[in-house]
Amino acid sequence: SSYHKVLEENRLLYNQVQDLKGAIRVYCRVRPFLPGQSNGPSTVDYIGENGDMMIVNPLKHGKDARRVFSFNKVFGTSVTQEQIYADTQSLIRSVLDGYNVCIFAYGQTGSGKTYTMSGPDLTTEETWGVNYRALRDLFHISKERAGSIKYEVFVQMIEIYNEQVRDLLVSDGSNRRLDIRNTSQLNGINVPDAFLVPVTCTQDVLDLMRIGQKNRAVGATALNERSSRSHSVLTVHVRGRELVSNSILRGCLHLVDLAGSERVEKSEAVGERLKEAQHINRSLSALGDVISALAQKSPHIPYRNSKLTQVLQDSLGGHAKTLMFVHINPELNAIGETISTLKFAERVSSIELGAAQSNK
Ligand code: ADP
Repeated sequence: SSYHKVLEENRLLYNQVQDLKGAIRVYCRVRPFLPGQSNGPSTVDYIGENGDMMIVNPLKHGKDARRVFSFNKVFGTSVTQEQIYADTQSLIRSVLDGYNVCIFAYGQTGSGKTYTMSGPDLTTEETWGVNYRALRDLFHISKERAGSIKYEVFVQMIEIYNEQVRDLLVSDGSNRRLDIRNTSQLNGINVPDAFLVPVTCTQDVLDLMRIGQKNRAVGATALNERSSRSHSVLTVHVRGRELVSNSILRGCLHLVDLAGSERVEKSEAVGERLKEAQHINRSLSALGDVISALAQKSPHIPYRNSKLTQVLQDSLGGHAKTLMFVHINPELNAIGETISTLKFAERVSSIELGAAQSNK
């Protein structure tokens, strides 16, 4: 089939760059068609093993209409929340071993970012997203290790909207603006000057997240609108003291629900909307630039180009581990955004592949 032909062409080159990828993993998740929507055809033509997928672009013809993209994994529409998390779990363990980990959700609005990170329904554990499963495991593993390491866990929740950082855990709902140059030190980790709340169980975190969600709505005309145009960052700081040696280990987990990546039509982009769109575009491309620069082992990593990359600076690069979930809406009318999402994902996952191809 044409899938296998294109795949074969990409395979060799792809294998060569796998080793160079470093500590970034990219997982692609395709969301199903939703009830009440047209039921296909899907722009995702084929999902292979080993993280390959083929996209059909109805706006193009012949050979150009089909394209294979390759990532660490591709999850199809029938993959459950539990299966998604199974491939994430090892990262959570490494936070307790003293690593910094960033998990991102990227994609256009409505592609399933919140579904992956939080899940559709907090009341049923079965549908819990990565956030809650990660915290549940974090507490579980720390209890298992209680005989040898005593852990303390702190949570922080911020939102970045129009390049302004806002603390979501302010209990009075005031829009306290944060200056992230004014960082406080928690156990040697640089954190924005936002509330750090000690937590001892998953329920504590669920309660905090409810406060955070409520504060996120303050000042927004519609919660959905606002949340799709801001980045939200839930950070879990872990400090462990080894009982025998008394030595301290520190790890930190950032769970980042990114602003919708959709581009705005020139004609509709005026005023506030234009400003938001520019901020989002700039910060998402700054994130892409940082991850690309890290992948290429560039001597200069442009962290300073956005608040998002500044906030996450200590957890991107070095010995930190990064996982990006990119989300695909399979509808035909989303094809433009689908292609640009996949190109972004390709850029952050294997910049060398792109470079090698364009040199051919
Ligand atoms: P985003 O956060 O990217 O804007 P959402 O997570 O809100 O998107 O998803 C949009 C809609 O699609 C929601 O109704 C959500 O429940 C549904 N959805 C997303 N991903 C899935 C999935 N994997 N399975 C079933 N429904 C999904």
